[in-house]
Amino acid sequence: MAEYSTKVLIIGSGPAGYTAGIYAARSGLNPIIVAGPQIGGQLTITTEIENFPGFPTPIYGSELMNNMKQQAENVGVTIHEDIITELDAQQRPFVLCTENGNCYKADSIIIATGASARWLGLESEAKFRGFGVSGCATCDGFFYRGKEVAVIGGGNTAVDEAIYLTNFASKVTLIHRRDSLRADKTLQERLFANPKIEVIWDSVVTEFVGSYEPLSLTGLKVKNIKTDEIINLSVSGAFIAIGHHPNSDLFKGILETDAEGYIITKPNSCATNIAGIFAAGDIKDPQFRQAIVAAGSGCIASLEAEKYLASLNK
Ligand code: FAD
Ligand code: NAP
Repeated sequence: MAEYSTKVLIIGSGPAGYTAGIYAARSGLNPIIVAGPQIGGQLTITTEIENFPGFPTPIYGSELMNNMKQQAENVGVTIHEDIITELDAQQRPFVLCTENGNCYKADSIIIATGASARWLGLESEAKFRGFGVSGCATCDGFFYRGKEVAVIGGGNTAVDEAIYLTNFASKVTLIHRRDSLRADKTLQERLFANPKIEVIWDSVVTEFVGSYEPLSLTGLKVKNIKTDEIINLSVSGAFIAIGHHPNSDLFKGILETDAEGYIITKPNSCATNIAGIFAAGDIKDPQFRQAIVAAGSGCIASLEAEKYLASLNK
């Protein structure tokens, strides 16, 4: 078991965590990042990224995150491969403990633990993830120009994504497990008025089907849960939009969150309800959930932490 002291402890190694680290290191704060269960964050599970500025041709998510890691290390960020399991926010400095039994004393904390897309949990879904199965229409919709796609879900995200995908796809089929949508009425009206969208009600996906060499989705088996009838739907892309889970369980009862668990920060700021603790990236963003937004808020959190530390003469 080791004990570390730092002015800034950053929890998470996605775009928000690495950006916060780069800024904090360049301010001479010698930050430590505890990288967590998914080193590099969500982008490491996708294929090509085409909307992160600075790359004239698409870059693989894992390569982009590796670049960020190297950049962080080059400017002096220390990265520990461990998972934070406890936070004591009563003490100053704050005390955090990890899965490997290490402890950190930190004058300030930047939480960048992200949010995870919920998946249906089918084995075939995991197989085609990144090869036709996606959790993000804004990220991957562009790749389905002129093709038929499906969206699974019935909330605002599913309806938003179905409408957005009509900008590219020739046809969008929304598959929902009930006979009415949870989405707002105005969004529903836009959905039903769109000639490119068809809705399959009372139905669930039972299997993702495709070719294995190369991996590529070609269709879905869709079961009507009232009649048990199964149809084969031909699609090149399937967008799972059944909600996200913010990785904030660790902070429950300590930090203010919304009903879904997203950490609440002050307007135009990454400051939480506890002075010295900041939140950046998807963990505080139920709305945009994009890498560039996460990176931007990592920068804000770091600048705010620096100001906070200066106010303590640290
Ligand atoms: P994340 O990337 O989620 O990183 C969270 C980090 O926190 C991880 O490193 C994890 O290990 C760590 N962590 C969690 N719990 C702990 C803990 N207890 N202790 C320590 N560390 C912890 N966005 C785009 O802009 N363009 C795209 O093309 C794009 N494609 C995507 C494709 C897919 C399939 C998915 C799922 C998302 C995509 N996104 C895309 C969204 C983008 O990945 C996220 O917006 C972005 O990664 C959020 O960054 P973050 O740093 O907030 O969190
Ligand atoms: P959500 O509101 O929780 O909706 C999730 C949808 O997925 C529901 O329709 C649910 O079905 C379905 N679902 C859940 N688990 C499923 C499963 N295992 N199999 C099949 N379907 C499943 O999530 P969201 O749409 O991501 O929205 C999250 C929050 O963000 C909401 O507060 C939403 O209002 C907000 N948001 C707002 C906008 C906007 O205002 N434009 C856009 C996006 C998101 P049931 O309906 O049967 O439960």
